[in-house]
Amino acid sequence: MTRRDILIGGSAILASSLTGCSDKKEFKEVSINRAKKVTLKLATSWPAHFPILGGAADFFSQRVNEVSGGSLEVKIYPKNTLVPALEVFDAVSAGAIDIFHSGPYYWKGKNSALSLIGGIPFGFTANEMNAWMMFEGGLELWGEIYKKYNLYPMLGGNVDSQMGGWFRKEINSLSDLNGLKMRIPGLAGEVVSRLGVNPVLLPAGDIFLSLERGVIDATEWVGPALDIKMGFYKVAKHYYSGWHEPGSIIEFSMNLKKFKSLSNEHKAIISSVSNEANSRMIYESQSKNAYALLELAKLGIKPKPFPNDVIEGAKKALYEVIEIEAGKNEDFKRVWESMENFLTISKEWTNMGLKSFLDMRG
Ligand code: CA
Repeated sequence: MTRRDILIGGSAILASSLTGCSDKKEFKEVSINRAKKVTLKLATSWPAHFPILGGAADFFSQRVNEVSGGSLEVKIYPKNTLVPALEVFDAVSAGAIDIFHSGPYYWKGKNSALSLIGGIPFGFTANEMNAWMMFEGGLELWGEIYKKYNLYPMLGGNVDSQMGGWFRKEINSLSDLNGLKMRIPGLAGEVVSRLGVNPVLLPAGDIFLSLERGVIDATEWVGPALDIKMGFYKVAKHYYSGWHEPGSIIEFSMNLKKFKSLSNEHKAIISSVSNEANSRMIYESQSKNAYALLELAKLGIKPKPFPNDVIEGAKKALYEVIEIEAGKNEDFKRVWESMENFLTISKEWTNMGLKSFLDMRG
């Protein structure tokens, strides 16, 4: 590779990071080869510009264009504009779309291991999830599973700690869950079904009305920033802190064949920008949730923890569900063994480092 090739390949990343360097002038004159412009179609499971989630897809598209010097374009198709929200996996797997922005736990019907990869109740925090993905072989394991579907997984965001949800009636003990209809997806849905809850899956647009009319008794969604926009506080006054999605992930996953067809530079750009979008969502969530919690307090909403017997019951049920699933699916078993191994080790450090500090900070 000649110096010139490197300059052209590195494009805007190099040029923009070299401010102050003596070679600045030389770098500025290098332009990307626009004759090779590549366009990728990205379908999402969110409405256009949806706060935080849709914002990450917008960021990804703009940033890829910027970093590639315009040689790589990502066209966004928000949910239902080209592909229904929950059919993006199949569309990208088949190659009709190049990338999707969604969440792995939506695909547990394809492979139950994906509900674990999406995030574990009582499991990894956002930080621990990223550590497992990037340094503990998580991305490789996920990649092995996705290869069967002609997909290449990339991290695409994490909304950090999620809240336990909104309930029309107060939950004072485990028995209060019995017979409740609750919108709650993924592994957590299976867990609460063992506690007597009837878990239902509803599209985002139907949740508020269902809760208002009492078609459902409770719903989880995300955290204060996104929950407040859904207006749940108007119809369900009891808001609980969360146990079921401490670090659930969002993904930018790509058609594997298409990913392989990209130049090394474009592969690197896509990977780097997805990582940037991933961490950016955690910081955005931290910032927006903090203000939204303040806003909820002004509206008279005081979040509280679930009673102890609910937490203990959910923990017990989780391990029963995991054991059953691990017995049915080899992928689930492998993913769980890897996650459990790291979780056991990581917990000690998180408790010693972060938790001790948080207790002291107050
Ligand atoms: Ca959720």
